[in-house]
Amino acid sequence: MDQIRIVFLGTGAAAPTRQRNVSSVAVVLDGRVLLFDCGEGTQHQLMRSPVRSGAIEAVFITHLHGDHLFGLPGLIATLGLNARTAPLTIYGPPGLRAFLDAIPYPGTTYDVEVVEIGPADCAGVRKGAGYRVFASLLQHSVPCFGYSIVEDDRAGAFDVGKARALGVPEGPLFGRLQRGLDVTVGGTLVRSEEVVGPLRPGRRIAFCTDTRPCAAAAELSRGSDVMIHEATYANDHAQEAVDRFHSTAEEAARVARDAAPQRLILTHVSARYEDDAPLLADARPLFPSTEVASDLLEIAVPRRE
Ligand SMILES: [Zn+2]
Ligand SMILES: [Zn+2]
Repeated sequence: MDQIRIVFLGTGAAAPTRQRNVSSVAVVLDGRVLLFDCGEGTQHQLMRSPVRSGAIEAVFITHLHGDHLFGLPGLIATLGLNARTAPLTIYGPPGLRAFLDAIPYPGTTYDVEVVEIGPADCAGVRKGAGYRVFASLLQHSVPCFGYSIVEDDRAGAFDVGKARALGVPEGPLFGRLQRGLDVTVGGTLVRSEEVVGPLRPGRRIAFCTDTRPCAAAAELSRGSDVMIHEATYANDHAQEAVDRFHSTAEEAARVARDAAPQRLILTHVSARYEDDAPLLADARPLFPSTEVASDLLEIAVPRRE
């Protein structure tokens, strides 16, 4: 996999505002799209973004609150009107199938497969080409999954100079060494591990909303390149965060300090915050690499090297 990009489609909490639509994030893997949450109006946000809705290969719903899934029926219908043929798999908590089955989609041109995630499925929800997706139950008022997207590890770096110095001629023997096989050159054994470095870990992105700060969110986000965590409130509404099973920016930053991602991006922001300053003021003392997402914000996730 070459490029990984994240496009925030909706970054608000509960109801859309002029500034923020409701929850949705696209993770774009070399053009293929994994959609996390699909709040109402997500298909409009997709049209305003560089993300192609036809390239969505799977959708992951965190929980069955409306601001996270009311956009699904419209999106499913539109993809049918666009004559999609590839199947679409939609993952989420139990109850998702009943919600989707309640609406007929006449003339749909493709198969929609709904996967309700059970307790035993969390370890590996989806294995796609070049990536895996994991889920974990967070702490919200209804069952709610956080997700992590983990790129497959890459082979170690091949040290061409060292291979040459050991007398290996360029050509098929290079390939064998790169595939982990030892070779013999002029009677001398050359071990793959002498010229190939250790496996290079894939990039990781975590998406944790809606939730109280919790160990599950920290585990999903541990060592990630990008940790996306909800921050519905600043400290001025800390009690609401407790009462409504959400997090403050400071609480999200505390989880990040534990999980040690490269960067923390806050989302699911209450409409009462017209600017990001109070959230950042609470979070950055604990975790300096914190930003607040805005709708249509696009970030690249470069390889770490
Ligand atoms: Zn929500
Ligand atoms: Zn919720």
